[in-house]
Amino acid sequence: MKKKEFKSESKKLLDLMINSIYTNKDIFLRELISNSSDALDKLYYKSLTDKKLKVDKEKLEINLSFDKEKRTITLEDNGLGMNKEELENNLGTIAKSGSQIFKENLDKKKDIDIIGQFGVGFYSAFMVSDKIEVISKSIDDEEANIWSSSGADGYTIESANKENNGTKIILYLKEDTEDEKYSEYLDEYKLKTLIVKYSNYIRYPIKMEVTTHELVDEKEHKYEDKKEVQIINSMIPIWKKNQKEVSDEDYDNFYIDKFVDYEKPLKVISSKVEGLCSYTSLLFIPSHAPYDYYNKDYEKGLSLYASGVLIMDKCADLLPDYFSFVKGIVDTEDLSLNISREMLQKSNSLKLIAKNIESKIRKELENMLENDQEKYIEFFKTFGIQIKYGIYNNYGADKDKLKDLLMFYSANKKKLITLKEYVKDMAKDQEVIYYASGSSIDMIDKLPQVDQVKNKKYDILYLTDYVDEFAITALQEYEENKFANVSNTDLDLETEEEKEKTKKLNEESKDMLSIMKDELKEVSEVKFTNNLSSHAVCLKTQGDVSIEMQKVFDSMPNDMGIKAQTILEINENHPIANKLKDLYKNDKDKLKDYTKILYSEARMIEGLPVENPTEISNLICDIISK
Ligand code: ADP
Repeated sequence: MKKKEFKSESKKLLDLMINSIYTNKDIFLRELISNSSDALDKLYYKSLTDKKLKVDKEKLEINLSFDKEKRTITLEDNGLGMNKEELENNLGTIAKSGSQIFKENLDKKKDIDIIGQFGVGFYSAFMVSDKIEVISKSIDDEEANIWSSSGADGYTIESANKENNGTKIILYLKEDTEDEKYSEYLDEYKLKTLIVKYSNYIRYPIKMEVTTHELVDEKEHKYEDKKEVQIINSMIPIWKKNQKEVSDEDYDNFYIDKFVDYEKPLKVISSKVEGLCSYTSLLFIPSHAPYDYYNKDYEKGLSLYASGVLIMDKCADLLPDYFSFVKGIVDTEDLSLNISREMLQKSNSLKLIAKNIESKIRKELENMLENDQEKYIEFFKTFGIQIKYGIYNNYGADKDKLKDLLMFYSANKKKLITLKEYVKDMAKDQEVIYYASGSSIDMIDKLPQVDQVKNKKYDILYLTDYVDEFAITALQEYEENKFANVSNTDLDLETEEEKEKTKKLNEESKDMLSIMKDELKEVSEVKFTNNLSSHAVCLKTQGDVSIEMQKVFDSMPNDMGIKAQTILEINENHPIANKLKDLYKNDKDKLKDYTKILYSEARMIEGLPVENPTEISNLICDIISK
């Protein structure tokens, strides 16, 4: 009999399993049962589309038994089964999503604790066994095969005898050691406990022979031990149970197991809807971004069940992109079991359910924001960026639904606030919602442009995410208050008198300012201003594109050539103003040098690169060494 080698990654995983790095060995049973349950689902689903295949749903089951002498545990299902190739392909490679993370982290031993909480599929059985046999017969095949392996050195496949379709797995438990008592699994009570803990909501019966004490003689109080096959699991899916009967811990465990996470969800949303459409849904907002969330292969979606049968694992149409992080299941009687994917996409029932689910999630988030702001902020820090995308995607079609879920840092309150809160506290004479953007709160707080608004005691929203300004631009206004970037030149914060004074100064200095402007190709204007407090210079913008937005455009692979229109503003009350006027009279070449330095300073303040650093540094050195 020829031994075949495992694929190399599988071998590494197996090695880890055999050497038992996990502390929680118990999960092996859950993994095997979940595979069996999938195989039963697949068989039943196949029977719905394949007319020739007759499957009696009532007879689909999983059987568990153990043998103390032989030290074996046997798990058998009458599901889809596997043919020779399938045994070879499925059991020779890593398939499970949990194992994928595992694979990526194989060499990073330190992450093992986290990974240990993920499901790692079939191979986890090697944590407790030193030999495993899988006897399987595919529903599409006459022949059965046995796959057998004693671990990392390989496996064999031979033909075997098996009457019915399905898979039987025999685990030969490892010998007990001082630290590990594998024989604890050869115990009725232990196995029962594991099934109830991890596999209670599997929809197929998990049967096991158990010992019952039967009263045989009432007078004598005589009991006799009897053997009897019982269904150990509750079978009713958790989402079908009465909410009051399910504990928070039950929901959390279900989530962790089903959606392969190591942390319990931030929020559980369970609902039962009857009316235009009828469905039960159980949704979860994760407490952190799913591990593959930022991979481009991440698939959003909810598991879709038609009358209790899984018809689609990730139905993307049930979730808008801005809620793509939501996990969960939807079970409806409005869809027929054998609906095709194309029909499903066109189905009005599905559209109606999706609409309901979207508004349910939104309402729950709004409630959380109102009643448990701390928790909402935790949510917003993790997934707020999705809401912001949602605001400007689809040409802003969803912005009205989402705008009240936004939060931004408030300069006055020094914490995140909503737009509603901002508007509520606006000053009487304030006409717009001010915002400033930059790479961090600290940096924004020091911007010269921020001072002029702060001096008026107006609050400013500080935007630090690169998507923020795009979202604000898409919104345009909130409750009829327009948004204004403090770096925009048309802020109009001065009094008429101040305006007149600055206007006059700019007119008088026209010639000088024009020499300065000619020195700077990128700016559209150089002018004096009255509202920079103690700062000497700053860059302002005109029009819709701000400097922060330009940074985003610049970082994109396809440069669209979108540029902010910038204006260099010089503080008319700063000593530098007189210095410039002086140079204009006496030394026009120096005036040009000073202009370059001032412009570089303004760029630095904005976090923009100085374009000709060597030249500027030489100019500064010339001046300071005099
Ligand atoms: P996963 O279940 O995530 O795919 P596993 O390593 O647990 O990863 O299993 C690998 C594959 O082996 C499964 O996808 C399935 O195709 C097959 N398999 C495992 N157990 C069974 C079973 N009891 N019946 C039929 N196929 C099975």
